[in-house]
Amino acid sequence: MIEGLTNIAVIAAHPDDEVLGFGGTMHRISSKGGAVSVLILATGLAARQTSGAADPSDLAQLREHSESANTLLGVRDLQFADFPDNRMDTVALLDVVHRVEAFLDGVKPDAVFTHHAGDLNVDHQITAKAVQTACRSLPGFAPTLIHGEVLSSTEYALPEDQIQPNMYVELGSSLDVKIAAMACYKEELRDFPHPRSLDAIRAQAALRGTQSGVSAAEAFRIVRKVITL
Ligand SMILES: [Zn+2]
Repeated sequence: MIEGLTNIAVIAAHPDDEVLGFGGTMHRISSKGGAVSVLILATGLAARQTSGAADPSDLAQLREHSESANTLLGVRDLQFADFPDNRMDTVALLDVVHRVEAFLDGVKPDAVFTHHAGDLNVDHQITAKAVQTACRSLPGFAPTLIHGEVLSSTEYALPEDQIQPNMYVELGSSLDVKIAAMACYKEELRDFPHPRSLDAIRAQAALRGTQSGVSAAEAFRIVRKVITL
């Protein structure tokens, strides 16, 4: 068991973000007996112009891909909030916060992983804000809060908003599981050198590995960690 990471919550904006940002670490933790719970806030599918809703059959297929990917990663609990995709700025922030709070209340995690607040994508920004609010320290509740990087969004941040990692998780063989999980999201993948490609995921893991003395790593920014001695 990994101290401080025995029961983690991953809160992502879109289906596939959980794999891109945290997939290797999720598998690392679950394979060592830790519990991993995931909440995905937006549908991942743009609404149709006419009906205002995503196509139900497309949604069902994407849901299947998510379940396959998260099963590979050893996720215990996978939940979907179905907020409008790339339009989370049309939802009251308080509604998002309440959904995140309800999820965290059920999981009671010792660490929460979510998006870097500087990401270009608006849903990522709102997710980071809502999680920050839901994780405000209270007596008896102050989980470690950690931001991750998602290829095709985090690197598009403004220069002054680039993520500055201060925590690295060695992936080892979990990198291959992360790649297999991402391959479940067929419609989201692009050809290299697009950042959302399997080769780019390997390249990023190798780069983060060279920064931390291992062959492959995921990089994170610790926002808050409370130590009780
Ligand atoms: Zn996303």
